[in-house]
Amino acid sequence: MQEVFEKLQQLQEVLAERYEIERHLSAIPKQLSTQSDVVARLRKSYGEKEHAHAGLSEIVSRLRIDLGDAQIVRESAERRMEAVKTQREFEALEKEINDAALEEDRLRHELRKHDQELQALNEAMQSELELIQDQEQELNDVERSVQKESEKDEQRLRELLIEEQRLTPDLDVSLLHKFESIIKNKLGLGIVGIRSGVCSGCHIVLPANFVNEVRMAHKVEFCPYCSRVLYFENGDVDEFFTGYIDADEMGGLIDLVDEDDFEEEEPPTLIDDEMAGDYEDN
Ligand SMILES: [Zn+2]
Repeated sequence: MQEVFEKLQQLQEVLAERYEIERHLSAIPKQLSTQSDVVARLRKSYGEKEHAHAGLSEIVSRLRIDLGDAQIVRESAERRMEAVKTQREFEALEKEINDAALEEDRLRHELRKHDQELQALNEAMQSELELIQDQEQELNDVERSVQKESEKDEQRLRELLIEEQRLTPDLDVSLLHKFESIIKNKLGLGIVGIRSGVCSGCHIVLPANFVNEVRMAHKVEFCPYCSRVLYFENGDVDEFFTGYIDADEMGGLIDLVDEDDFEEEEPPTLIDDEMAGDYEDN
């Protein structure tokens, strides 16, 4: 049995490291997708700005053409002014010139407004482009380092698997499955000692007859409260059984327990009938 405990303890280290690495590896895709989501959002926003830029550029070039046309109209009217003979012709031509000048003013105003918008859009696009390039660079760096890390993790997993295969063949398959799930759920601790009648995994006082069974080590026993594999810590035997015999039943056991050990105590959950009887009687 001692050999089983030793193997379980070695296996505990191997499995705890394996699960830690697996958790790490499984978090990577999420990390990468968050980063590439940022880049995708920026690219989309840049695309929308490009579209707006094209529309605005078209308006600006049409305004330039219209402004040129208005200028031509006014200049031609001004030239005709030299040949004017009657007051009526003069008034008509003067109106034409004034209208053309007003139109020019309006077009210039519009052109200035749209030119400014275009300028602002250009600047926004420029800084967004720089941001995209930065983010893409960052994404590349992250991908590269993740790639390197993953390779290291995979290599370590292969080593751990060899170690696991060395340890597991002599262990009972159902014990192995139970042990693996305990380590997964109990953050790496699947086998713990009994100290002064207390499970050192969950710090709950165990029934005396159960402690004795663990001490005899005829088979692998699990803590009825936290499900961890239990072994009896050598050197504890005199203290425990002296304390047990001298005291009134379990009350005496509680006296032996260091108060500090009761921190982070979990409520009893897995009491079978026999255990529950023992527990309640005391
Ligand atoms: Zn326990």
